[in-house]
Amino acid sequence: MKALVKAKPEEGIWLADIGKPEIGPNDVLVKVRKSAICGTDVHIYNWDAWAQKTIPVPMAVGHEFMGEVVEIGSEVHPEHSKLKIGDRVSAEGHVTCGYCRNCRAGERHLCRNTVGIGVNRPGAFAEYVAVPAFNLYRLPDDISDDLAAIFDPFGNAVHTALAFDLVGEDVLITGAGPIGIMAAAVARFVGARHVVVTDINDYRLDLARRMGATRAVNVSRENLRDVMSELKMTEGFDVGLEMSGVPSAFASMLETMNHGGKIAMLGIMPNGAGVDWDKVIFKGLEIKGIYGRRMFETWYKMGALLQAGLDLAPVITHHFPVSDYQKGFDVMRSGQSGKVILEW
Ligand code: NAD
Ligand code: ZN
Repeated sequence: MKALVKAKPEEGIWLADIGKPEIGPNDVLVKVRKSAICGTDVHIYNWDAWAQKTIPVPMAVGHEFMGEVVEIGSEVHPEHSKLKIGDRVSAEGHVTCGYCRNCRAGERHLCRNTVGIGVNRPGAFAEYVAVPAFNLYRLPDDISDDLAAIFDPFGNAVHTALAFDLVGEDVLITGAGPIGIMAAAVARFVGARHVVVTDINDYRLDLARRMGATRAVNVSRENLRDVMSELKMTEGFDVGLEMSGVPSAFASMLETMNHGGKIAMLGIMPNGAGVDWDKVIFKGLEIKGIYGRRMFETWYKMGALLQAGLDLAPVITHHFPVSDYQKGFDVMRSGQSGKVILEW
């Protein structure tokens, strides 16, 4: 089968012909129809320090995908799983152990033995991917293939945005990457008042506006304090969603939060990034780390939010056939894109 493979320990990803995966008794084989390029895939492409210590080579990568069930393992319960050949599915990319304390408590997103599809085990930039049946999400008919392919990052946005009550609150989102702008759409949809999104990239700030941000602020030109006065925000932001992974963005968030504010942190900070603890302590801030998606509460919320009318259309900016994958990676690496879909 065709797959995008991290074939060599150097910059790049290569289209190759590799063996079709075999499924275990509890797995399902999915024929991939669409996949999307994640920031993680760009790290893998660039072969940065994180990728070098994490990714086994050679391996097919990719974890944002949707497709169709073509084979079901012998131990997958036909009645309880309700899975059938031909079902349209997406899947949770974190494969959890099922045995640790958190897994046994149903808190699978906190599993200490998580293995990532397309990161630690063969991925979904391929014609076929094998995943545990447990990880599948059966797609409602009214959700498009394009949106289904980005449920993984949409789930990061929903998990983070719904970490705290947003109704009537003023929300600051640092980082207008695909996840930040989806979080902006969710925050507005669930009833936040002002949703201010910051970035240094005008293309992405424009997408943030189209996704419903009240104000999209280029912090390389504009001062966040001025924007707050213009919005008549006298006290500060009630909720912060950190979605840039940039220490100076996080510092500006700590600076502009109201006392008692709540922060959900998704962005991955560089090692040793400093924190102004005085702000955290004297403002009595609450800070929560967010990893992945809740299994499977976030998935149910995603489906339901879309069915309730949440519009994510502007976030998908590019489509390429897989033969043009290089163009897809190039546009992702340029920063002049939202989500990029590869068609299999
Ligand atoms: P992304 O890299 O596409 O977006 C980050 C954005 O931050 C970019 O648009 C960049 O221009 C912007 N930025 C740079 N400097 C800034 C500044 N000073 N102020 C404000 N914004 C600034 O990333 P993404 O795919 O949208 O993901 C968002 C973050 O979440 C990344 O850090 C990613 O690594 C992380 N992530 C975490 C998890 C998790 O489970 N915790 C999952 C997925 C992604
Ligand atoms: Zn576990």
